Amino acid sequence: MSALVGKFSGFRLGGFFGRFRKKKAVVADGRPKDRRLRILLWAVFISASCGTVGLGEPLDDLVRGLRDAVRAQNASGEVVVVAVDDLTNTKLGGPDYPRRYEAKVVENLFKLGAKRVFFDNVYSKSSTKFDDAQFAASLSRFRGRVFLGSLSLPDPLTMERTSYVPTEPLRSKVRLASLDLATISLGLSHKLPYNTPTGGKLVPSLSNVVSNKNNDSDEFYRPDWSIKVSSIPTVRLFDVYNNNVHIDKIRGKDIIIGYTSVADNDIKFQLSNGYFGGVYIHAIGSETLLKGTPVEFNWIYAYLVSILLSVLLLYANSNTVSYSTVPISFFALGLTPLFLDQFLIGVDIGAGLIMFLIASISGLPERRIANSALINVSTGLPNIAALRKEGSVVQQTLIALKIRNYSEISASFVESIEREFFVELCRRIGVTSNEGSIFHSEDTLFWFSDIPMGANLTNHLQGLNALASSAILISSRMIDVQIAFGIDGDFDRPLSSRIGSASLCAQEASEGNDIWKFYDPERQHEAAWQLSLIGQLEKAIDNNEIWVAFQPKLDLTWNRIVGAEALVRWTHPERGTVGPDEFIIAAETHNRIEKLTAFVLDRALAATNEIHYVYPNFSIAVNLSAQLLESPVLLDLIQQALKKNRFPPDKLVLEITETAHLTRSTIALDVMTQIRAMGIHLSVDDYGTGNATMDYLKLLPSDEVKIDRSFVSGICSDAQDRIMVQSTIKMVHDLGRRVVAEGVETQDVMDQLRALGCDMVQGYLVGKPVPLGVFIRQLPEAPQRLAG
Ligand code: C2E
Ligand code: CA
Ligand code: CA
Repeated sequence: MSALVGKFSGFRLGGFFGRFRKKKAVVADGRPKDRRLRILLWAVFISASCGTVGLGEPLDDLVRGLRDAVRAQNASGEVVVVAVDDLTNTKLGGPDYPRRYEAKVVENLFKLGAKRVFFDNVYSKSSTKFDDAQFAASLSRFRGRVFLGSLSLPDPLTMERTSYVPTEPLRSKVRLASLDLATISLGLSHKLPYNTPTGGKLVPSLSNVVSNKNNDSDEFYRPDWSIKVSSIPTVRLFDVYNNNVHIDKIRGKDIIIGYTSVADNDIKFQLSNGYFGGVYIHAIGSETLLKGTPVEFNWIYAYLVSILLSVLLLYANSNTVSYSTVPISFFALGLTPLFLDQFLIGVDIGAGLIMFLIASISGLPERRIANSALINVSTGLPNIAALRKEGSVVQQTLIALKIRNYSEISASFVESIEREFFVELCRRIGVTSNEGSIFHSEDTLFWFSDIPMGANLTNHLQGLNALASSAILISSRMIDVQIAFGIDGDFDRPLSSRIGSASLCAQEASEGNDIWKFYDPERQHEAAWQLSLIGQLEKAIDNNEIWVAFQPKLDLTWNRIVGAEALVRWTHPERGTVGPDEFIIAAETHNRIEKLTAFVLDRALAATNEIHYVYPNFSIAVNLSAQLLESPVLLDLIQQALKKNRFPPDKLVLEITETAHLTRSTIALDVMTQIRAMGIHLSVDDYGTGNATMDYLKLLPSDEVKIDRSFVSGICSDAQDRIMVQSTIKMVHDLGRRVVAEGVETQDVMDQLRALGCDMVQGYLVGKPVPLGVFIRQLPEAPQRLAG
């Protein structure tokens, strides 16, 4: 349903990388901290360090070894190794066989047409005079075509070089070829120099000479280890000695004579070739330089690419982009170097690889945590935070679907059912439209639609309403769903405020029993005003801007004022009088109603105490928002007000308003029962509006029912209204309760109500809501005024 719900395959790691995760910090608000940046910086730092001090090299060698194995190829065959192998050693009398044999080997090789002969041996120690003379004689015969080795070994501590060159009489007969090499950290492969400073001069390396490159740098290069050691043509020294080698093998070739026997202690290792005699390093080097001059890119390049990929991996908004960095890095760090290897272009990827590995192994779980802040855990749907991230301006209609009876439904949810419920609801939404992601926040779902405002959209919503509100069967339970839509089609506004207005509209549609409500830009000003009022409300109470008006209640039987309703008023310093309708609902939705209620109750009781001096039976009605019935502080709040004013509870009526909000929870009913047990009377306000039905009325413990003025005012002109009022009066009486009609403005209406048996009336006819002083002054005259 949504790209955001994607699941990450979890990485589990201990050891080094695990350390990044163990210390997972959780901040005070309970949400896990986003540690991606820290991990990224650590990765940048660690891999850069590895790159600088060469710690990435073994890793690089390992990867190069794998690449070499993939590219494994045969040598050109231009270089031939004459091997001093085990058999040679046995036949000629051990590794230190007499040097005069070398003389014969040289003679035989040139007889077979060898181009040049290289000895992988320094001869820095003298042998017997006779042997050295024999060898020297044969060397001078082929002067210029035979090369003996030299070495220049640095002391590991002082780095001071000790040079080894052949002794006289050999030295003066030959040219030198350096045999130096460097083994890479873990011994997985070796590098060769082009030249080595030896005894004050630069001596070209054997491979440099063989390849005729005449490269004069003293740098090292990396031989192409994809050339198989086993493919270097090799003949046995003993066979050469015995002249037992076919001419084709030697003619026109460069020959390297060296040890391959374990006895000679010159066995080397390289990852893609395994173990082999040290002589082959020079042979492979020669083959490499014959192909070309290797070019090396140091670690920086791959490292920079890896940083870029890691940032994408951890921070890309879409999971698709994030995950695609994995194949991209395989391509960038794996395939590209493999391709370049062919052209002897080497790329060091060790540091970059370390960078990307740390980022992905340690950082991906962090990314998932950061992402989970965008997911509603109980339903797996993206949440409102995810919705806000959809962009700042979205050119689509935003639809909010509010589940009106969500609290009832959710009270019976276990988490798995909740998920099933929403999955089914989303499926139904998906049936009518193939919209993208659906976002979930508590009782509301949001999505974007391509249908513009207009008839198509209302048809669409009508259909969706029918589909979505048919009962959902989950775990053999039928769940009835009541929904309302809020729609915002004002594309130009920032998404965050569109989300606000769509949910506000859904809320209002729900309250007004409508299927939908569209956002109307004209009202935005009003909404902003309401919000700012809420912000000022508490201060207004302290500043005495809030006060209470009193409106009389007339008993029709005795034609006497028996009480009054306390109605809150706000004299705003800039706005003048602000009616309760303007701020009560806002205060309710923002949970600011408690302080206001306590204030009105206290003022009403204090005022009534004054009236009680003259009219001791006078009762006062105070409005109580239904939602407060679920507040844990309500009973305390009432008790405190009674105690403070030493008020007789049976002279207090609490009118429960906004009964549409009354959930059928047992809590609310319990609280109502407790209030009555305190001796206070309860009245159900605004009867006929909202969702207060007759059977519901029976359920509510109350003493009085107030019929809403929208029905009362019409009883003389509208038959329907009259029937409604008449039947309500009858039913309420049957339940043993009193009936009050509010909004009585004319004598006709009052006469009708009296005829229908209504107990009390309230309205402008009897008296408007007025400040206490005015109210007390008018009190004695009121019934007379009516009678006249
Ligand atoms: P309500 O409880 O139905 O209050 C009656 C409303 O009808 C009052 O409006 C009153 O001024 C008005 N009214 C009374 N007689 C007549 C009449 O003959 N004709 C007409 N047209 N209107 C009449 P008001 O004062 O604007 O209050 C509006 C609503 O605000 C009240 O409706 C009540 O639900 C709420 N409210 C007022 N004070 C409080 C309070 O202290 N706490 C709470 N929770 N709600 C309050
Ligand atoms: Ca009322
Ligand atoms: Ca009313």
